[in-house]
Amino acid sequence: VSTMGQDSPSSLKVATEPTFPPFEMQDQGTGELTGFDIQLMKAIGEAAELNIEFITLPFDGIIPALQSNTVDAAISGMTITAERAQTVSFSRPYFKAGLAIAVQDNNTNIQSFADLEGKRIAVQIGTTGAQEASTIEGATVSSFDSASLALQELINGKVDAVVNDGPVTLYAIKEAGLQGVKVVGELVTEEYYGIALPKDSPYLDDINNALGLLIQNGGYREVYQTWFAG
Ligand code: GLN
Repeated sequence: VSTMGQDSPSSLKVATEPTFPPFEMQDQGTGELTGFDIQLMKAIGEAAELNIEFITLPFDGIIPALQSNTVDAAISGMTITAERAQTVSFSRPYFKAGLAIAVQDNNTNIQSFADLEGKRIAVQIGTTGAQEASTIEGATVSSFDSASLALQELINGKVDAVVNDGPVTLYAIKEAGLQGVKVVGELVTEEYYGIALPKDSPYLDDINNALGLLIQNGGYREVYQTWFAG
């Protein structure tokens, strides 16, 4: 006797890489997950009547986990790209971001992407920043497990620049008190974050509908203002 359809999980396992403030991070004291993506995903869970269970993974482990159905979804400041969309499905975009270049405060010779030729660059592994840096002629690219480790390398003077999501680097400088580095130039790319799901996930419509509802009813705005007030 088939029970298919009756036992569909009401609990959604959602992967995130929690060192990407203000999108996802862990409270220093309690270890609890917090941030824009976390709050948004919880609101989506409420709207879609899905119980959200977060699973923390390295960023470059997220897509493999979706492909093997180890997790049901991922929210992790993940840029919607054509390449990723070949292996996972994306929700409608929920945040506009883009890459920014960070250098040491006293640096004057790097002002744009073109100035990165032949330079030493730190990036977070598996990210669009890593991808973009790999196209720069003569550059030496070092990969780190988190954006904050890449920024630390810059502060230590071991690299000339970091290529990372602009909102995250700016938040580190302006809100988290990271000292000795600045962002130069315009955003290098225009990127949109999406929630990633396994291909042919049954939850795609639920998540898109919930996102649409939150955008309409002010729920999204509330989350946005919590993390990007100023
Ligand atoms: N938005 C970038 C990407 O998708 C970085 C994401 C991240 O480091 N969490 O590659």
